[in-house]
Amino acid sequence: MSRTLRQAVLSGDIGGNGFSLVFQPLISISDGRITSCEALLRWTHPILGPISPEQFIPIAEESRLILELGEWALLQALARASQWPKSIGVAVNVSPVQFRSQSLALKVLKALAVSGVSPRRLELEITEAVLIGDDKTALLTLHELHTAGVQVALDDFGTGYSSLSYLQRFPFDKIKIDKTFINKVDHADGSAHIVRAIIDIATAQDMTTTAEGVETEMQLDALRRLGCTEMQGYLFSRPVLASEINDFLMKDVEKRRMISC
Ligand code: C2E
Ligand code: CA
Ligand code: CA
Repeated sequence: MSRTLRQAVLSGDIGGNGFSLVFQPLISISDGRITSCEALLRWTHPILGPISPEQFIPIAEESRLILELGEWALLQALARASQWPKSIGVAVNVSPVQFRSQSLALKVLKALAVSGVSPRRLELEITEAVLIGDDKTALLTLHELHTAGVQVALDDFGTGYSSLSYLQRFPFDKIKIDKTFINKVDHADGSAHIVRAIIDIATAQDMTTTAEGVETEMQLDALRRLGCTEMQGYLFSRPVLASEINDFLMKDVEKRRMISC
């Protein structure tokens, strides 16, 4: 699989070699409107068929092919977002490997300029692995992008070892609470207390909170009671093709127009 991955990524035509992006909306819990869409990579192997990102991303990271793949995903996501209403943001996952390369800030700013998308509409999703070992290059890059207006979200929050300390290292705009907590947020087993604590910390620091993997109305009700800002999950929508997300966004804009009439 890794040889095919290499050939596909280095072919000069990543999109023509089985890679694509799907988009999943993030919804404001208070008014049910779409705030942004997260770009998620998909790869169809010529023989094995669709391969989960959980399988191919680690291989791409080990081989550093994620540098080309991540840049391609960023350019594609911004190109799509340039066709969306300006009120809708676009979230792109960025690997720790990309953060270790000194040119990331430049590449992101160049991609924004090419697409014409305002930096405020771009949100980079990073995991705490980016900040492990107090990585100076990564922190400098984050600050440079943040100063330019790019939003930064801490993804998969709660899954690592010392997540709270990472909140002091960088002024994140958003925390994405991992789905392992959201799964049981409506059960009486303690998940709700953890989610409440995360939301309280985030709110005190003016950060948005996004609940990942929301699948039921009961989970959504519990999150609303806990004061969570946004939700993402199958309850509202699975990740969909770029062509389908446009319909979602048009319906959302129509809904806004009807509310404001
Ligand atoms: P992630 O960034 O945490 O993305 C959220 C994952 O949860 C996605 O899996 C999404 O399809 C899935 N998901 C969304 N809603 C629900 C739900 O209600 N229930 C459940 N069970 N799952 C839900 P996906 O697309 O398979 O991606 C897996 C991981 O691969 C991502 O996790 C991210 O870490 C990585 N990934 C995907 N695209 C990229 C990319 O462009 N660059 C990098 N560096 N990593 C990526
Ligand atoms: Ca993510
Ligand atoms: Ca996540």
